[in-house]
Amino acid sequence: MTNETQIALEEGRILPLMEDFYTLQGEGFYTGTAAYFVRIGGCDVGCHWCDVKESWNAALHPATPIEIIVENAKKVAKTVVITGGEPLQWNMKPLTELLKNQAFKVHIETSGAYPLSGIWDWICLSPKKNKLPLEPIYEVANELKIIVHNKHDLIFAEEQAQKTNPNALLYLQPEWSKQAEMTPLLIDYVMQNPQWKLSIQTHKYLNIP
Ligand code: SF4
Repeated sequence: MTNETQIALEEGRILPLMEDFYTLQGEGFYTGTAAYFVRIGGCDVGCHWCDVKESWNAALHPATPIEIIVENAKKVAKTVVITGGEPLQWNMKPLTELLKNQAFKVHIETSGAYPLSGIWDWICLSPKKNKLPLEPIYEVANELKIIVHNKHDLIFAEEQAQKTNPNALLYLQPEWSKQAEMTPLLIDYVMQNPQWKLSIQTHKYLNIP
């Protein structure tokens, strides 16, 4: 990598783009909404059940100018969801400014483990036990989404909800490999604790990306 590329990456003018595609948001509050997904490479959070482990090594994904990402999105979509990987490993300010200048709604899916950068219409915070969110993001999250792999994750969910601003929507989502076991448990839990809602990975049931 040249020095110039390194500087552009640090400044967020180019980003390691793993994939970008137009689909329906499968999870959480915007389930069923058409959106352009931009998956940025790089994550060191290390969830053992992660379903996008190919995203972890940023060096495997082409350093892509943000203008190209925005041009691709502009052809088809009005809402862009930035996901990863962990997108906040990178400076999101230039990409989100460019998207906002083009009148996109801009959403993020993040573990919150890195400092928040960028301008967002919707922040989906999905905390992970092995690398907790930094404090400031709890104040601005619009939605808290806890992935439930086992029963103990419900205790973690309640701890995280305590830290999150009271306007945030609260979602419990069964981890996909455990969904047969966890979904009935979460249905019961949500009925007992209706401040939570159930989120399921509808895109996986629909077999869309
Ligand atoms: S934070 Fe997301 S991308 Fe990173 S390891 Fe966990 S599930 Fe995978």
